[in-house]
Amino acid sequence: MLVLVINSGSSSLKYQLRELADDGTDAPVPVLAQGLVERIGVPGSGVPDHAAALEQVEAELAEATGGRTIDAAGHRVVHGGERFTAPARVTNEVIRAIERLAPLAPLHNHAAAQGLRAMAERWPDMPQVVVFDTSFHQTMPREAWQYALPDEVYTEHGIRRYGFHGTSHDLVTGLAAEHLGIPRGEFRAVVLHLGNGASATAIRDGVSVDTSMGYTPLAGLVMGTRSGDLDPSVVTHLMRNHGYDAEELDTLMNRRSGLLGLAGEADMRQVLENAASGDGRARNALDVASYRLAKYVGGYHVAVGGAQAIVFTAGIGENSAPFRARVLDRLEALGVAYDAEANRARVAGPHTISAPESAIPVLVVPTDEEQAIARLTWELAR
Ligand code: AMP
Repeated sequence: MLVLVINSGSSSLKYQLRELADDGTDAPVPVLAQGLVERIGVPGSGVPDHAAALEQVEAELAEATGGRTIDAAGHRVVHGGERFTAPARVTNEVIRAIERLAPLAPLHNHAAAQGLRAMAERWPDMPQVVVFDTSFHQTMPREAWQYALPDEVYTEHGIRRYGFHGTSHDLVTGLAAEHLGIPRGEFRAVVLHLGNGASATAIRDGVSVDTSMGYTPLAGLVMGTRSGDLDPSVVTHLMRNHGYDAEELDTLMNRRSGLLGLAGEADMRQVLENAASGDGRARNALDVASYRLAKYVGGYHVAVGGAQAIVFTAGIGENSAPFRARVLDRLEALGVAYDAEANRARVAGPHTISAPESAIPVLVVPTDEEQAIARLTWELAR
């Protein structure tokens, strides 16, 4: 089965053409083509809208498909609100529901809806599936998702913790449980998705019971360019006393903060390199980021009733032994002990990096969101 995986941003469209075997697993060559269309809607770019972007994608795919028809398309959608607790087959009603949720993710959901409409027009017979970043976290109990604001802020405006990166947390949870030989339904873990965006999720009985991102992906951990947790009064203070408006604050907290704000570099590799050559700002950034993360692991260890695993994934989580070491060094109070050599070793696939005496196994589990989306699409479309 050929599945086209689509990730529509506000001005970009990323795609991957994947082949799945009859049982839904990866074909021997799983990725037949991939690409990115940028500057959609930017004057002079030659790509006025998502329909034009798809035209470009279709041309780029022609060779890879070799004349075969694409069986289904799977779309990553950032926000599914409370309506979508699982992936869904696309209908007009589903597209309208995604648009109604646009106030929750202004840049993303509108683009996704446009991408969906353009797809339906271009390939009317191709089944389409939407996979939401939020839906995995809809199992959180109210005590975890509710903010301590007056109740009507939630009931009238939908303001609550939603959480993101759900497809990745879900996939990695399943793989980690399998690696440890624990039935997923009984699995308790803290999963750390550390990429340019980063989030921690508390897993109890195999499902999400808390997560560090909140109403938006700004909350929680120190990220590449996002601040993570802040005292919200910082925002009102900067508005009242230092002339910031909402737009500027949005940019400040989402694009100029995190590692970039602290160390002058958003990329973890560069921050580590600078720290190794004695850059004090880079060292400080690593301290702030690893301290924050360790605090979340401690909190979530409590939330899940004693984790059976701590799991690292995504760009930094999978590849950055020095950053993992900095976090794990702070978890001694939980009885965590890692094997320095295993931590440094490059191993493909899920593997353990903790020492045999560690009170909690520590795993590195590679994520692949496109693969997960392709598989979920296969399940709904076959
Ligand atoms: P992602 O968003 O999952 O693609 O992750 C991007 C982040 O992973 C960036 O901060 C990269 O610097 C980081 N990253 C990727 N490879 C490495 C590596 N070998 N060592 C340290 N960080 C890495």
